[in-house]
Amino acid sequence: MKRVVALLCVSVLFLVGTACRAQPLSQSAVLLDTTCKITLYDGDEALLDTCFARIAADEQRWSKTITTNEVSRLNCDGAAAVSEDTAALLTEALTYSTLSNGAFDITAAPLTALWEKAEAQNALPTATALTATLACVGYTHLTVDGTTATLTGGAQIDLGAIAKGAIADRAAAYLRENGCTSALVDLGGNIVAVGSKTGGEPFTVGIADPHDPDALLMTVKAADLAVVTSGSYERGYTIGDKRYSHILDPHTGQPVENDLASVTILCPSATKADALATACFVMGYDRAATLIAAESDTDAVFAMADGRVIATEGVEIAS
Ligand code: AMP
Ligand code: MG
Repeated sequence: MKRVVALLCVSVLFLVGTACRAQPLSQSAVLLDTTCKITLYDGDEALLDTCFARIAADEQRWSKTITTNEVSRLNCDGAAAVSEDTAALLTEALTYSTLSNGAFDITAAPLTALWEKAEAQNALPTATALTATLACVGYTHLTVDGTTATLTGGAQIDLGAIAKGAIADRAAAYLRENGCTSALVDLGGNIVAVGSKTGGEPFTVGIADPHDPDALLMTVKAADLAVVTSGSYERGYTIGDKRYSHILDPHTGQPVENDLASVTILCPSATKADALATACFVMGYDRAATLIAAESDTDAVFAMADGRVIATEGVEIAS
């Protein structure tokens, strides 16, 4: 419930200062296991409807819980013919796995399953189970050759850390292709500003405070920009009386616990922002700041565990 309130709060606050046309069109739906909201300042109901239908279709294609889709066939059979879009997403995911030295790892699925089981049994994974699971994790186990994807060594893929960003990019591209010049796409905090406000000013996007997700850490200016946050404040595993992050370190198998409370990435691609937000959260501040400094189109806001907030130079703070 708290998460829903936070999302609604963030969604509403996007509109702060928006010089919108008389009646922006807005639609929300629970998809991708979260609340998705699209607001058009330019465009009609039919465009909104088809955009949501496309998001629902992408979810069917990329969710690991749909047993008949490409992801499940690949995870089950170890090799599968996939669509061009899926092949492109897997290839891009491998790029971010390499860039982050495996902090973002597209083959984290067995680890996620291990911690889901641990939560269900209310018992931490044993060292033996962790070692056995880690042996199956590693992005080099995935190869993509044209539209054939292959997994080796018992690896399984999990698109959970990149799919929402990719689907947000696809929704934004669809809106642009259909003539929309001003919109906000928010897929559970994976936000894309399409164009700018109708007056030409950038949109104002709120970043949730990980220490109090009902409040805002800051608001940033965004025009043709993705703003994506990763943190442990929304989801996690509860075992005994401790809450563990749902983001796992693929090198140790452990839930992330470091000097960061959340990371927000700002860059033109929501796919990249989603993958790098997860990667940076795993890496901790020092390594993450080095990674972001080397990416010329990318900025970040680091909410530190001790309450400090560090933004890179290109972040345009609205308030
Ligand atoms: P996000 O909220 O984008 O940071 O993605 C978190 C989700 O991605 C988790 O719920 C898992 O399904 C999956 N995941 C967890 N840890 C990792 C990781 N280190 N690399 C890639 N995916 C991960
Ligand atoms: Mg992510």
